[in-house]
Amino acid sequence: MAEKFDAIVVGAGPAGVTAAYVIAKSKINVAVIERGEYPGSKNVIGGVLYIKTMDDVSPGFWSDAPLERKIVQHSYCLMGKGEHAIISHVSTGHSDTASGYTILRSKFDRWYLKKAQEAGATVITKTNVTELLSNQGRIVGVRTDRGDLSADIVVVAEGANTMLCEKAGLITKPRPDQMAIAVKEIVALPSNRIQERFALSEGEGTAIHYIGALFEGLVGFGFVYTNKESLSVGFGAIISTMMRKRIKPYDLMEKFKQEPSVEPFLRDGVVKEYQAHMIPEAGYVGIPKLYSDGVLVVGDSAMLANPVTGEGADLAVLSGRLAGEVAIQAHLSGDYTSRTLAQYQRLLSNSFAVRDMKKQSGLLAYIEENPEIMDTYPEIINAALGIWFRVDGSTTAEKLRRIISSSTSKRRITRMMKDIYVFGRKLM
Ligand SMILES: Cc1cc2nc3c(=O)[nH]c(=O)nc-3n(C[C@H](O)[C@H](O)[C@H](O)COP(=O)(O)OP(=O)(O)OC[C@H]3O[C@@H](n4cnc5c(N)ncnc54)[C@H](O)[C@@H]3O)c2cc1C
Repeated sequence: MAEKFDAIVVGAGPAGVTAAYVIAKSKINVAVIERGEYPGSKNVIGGVLYIKTMDDVSPGFWSDAPLERKIVQHSYCLMGKGEHAIISHVSTGHSDTASGYTILRSKFDRWYLKKAQEAGATVITKTNVTELLSNQGRIVGVRTDRGDLSADIVVVAEGANTMLCEKAGLITKPRPDQMAIAVKEIVALPSNRIQERFALSEGEGTAIHYIGALFEGLVGFGFVYTNKESLSVGFGAIISTMMRKRIKPYDLMEKFKQEPSVEPFLRDGVVKEYQAHMIPEAGYVGIPKLYSDGVLVVGDSAMLANPVTGEGADLAVLSGRLAGEVAIQAHLSGDYTSRTLAQYQRLLSNSFAVRDMKKQSGLLAYIEENPEIMDTYPEIINAALGIWFRVDGSTTAEKLRRIISSSTSKRRITRMMKDIYVFGRKLM
């Protein structure tokens, strides 16, 4: 083999770069291989990076990152037919930091990889890893379109479409009900227009998540996030539900952009980019065995995305850090077998993120079995608010009776009790 590294990381997304950064800081000879022309050139994110796990990698080191806007408003928009209701939380405190910031991956990934490079990682771009190389059942390197490289340990961080792990028999191909297709557009708008439209001050941002009528019972949600001079607009939905309803992502995107709760934000904006990507949505049950002799799997490749909270990038960072730390232990002990590497999955399973995913296990399956939940509740809430706010000569008591009768006509009370029980048990 031409060249040997102590560790090789495949993929320069947040998972891979974190692993490389952590390993490089320990003066271990690590290379990151990225197929894109530059890191971020092939990456998609709707936009909000929750920074807790980045802070755990190195407190505050993200503070010189190319962040777009500090998220001070989080909203849910419940779309009805010809009406919508918005539930918002606005933070008016003057804290310098927030739990999340919008980012644009093309800028952010470049900056993050530079940090790993400064810590000592070797960066190899425009190189596609085609295969994991093994010797007597142990991973010993990678085959690329530019030659073979060997390593004591390989960290696979190739994102949601994990061909390498599938090819090496580490992971079985996820089913269509375990993956979502997400589409996103970047719509350019001047920053002062964004601030006016969303009632924001300079540097502040908003994240709006949409569910309801438009998505016709698809299991998924839409989003609008504000960047400095653009909006990230899109939606993600479980592939099997899209296939069942024969909905084409592009058509749904066009309808979403025309929604009265979305269109005024986008008006006069210019579409700069259109991207489509997959997101692992199987939750805890979909997390496979993430180690074998000489290899660790991180980020989306490890199916680490929370379908309930929409988090993925921060879980990628978390898993990259834990994999990096375990790779260092393996290097120090000289033992790259599963015996040492199993510690990675144990640490991950004890993390807040995976414990949360475990608790929520089965929730998505329940929604998939009862997809009407996705639009019935937004419809019930819209109808109730419509009755409540309408001044038509009815007394308050009459309005409340009408609200109860309208709600129970849309979903039987026994079904509502069951939904509350299931959601309560899975979320609390
Ligand atoms: C539309 C959309 C919106 C999202 N919104 C959010 C959000 O708001 N908040 C959030 O936390 N998460 C969000 N996510 C999820 C988040 O983007 C992912 O969870 C995260 O990017 C996973 O990071 P990763 O490093 O595992 O994989 P990726 O970011 O996919 O990076 C994988 C890297 O590996 C490279 N690569 C792949 N194969 C090879 C190969 N064979 N050889 C060399 N290089 C290779 C790719 O080019 C890429 O750079 C969103 C995802 C999508 C699609």
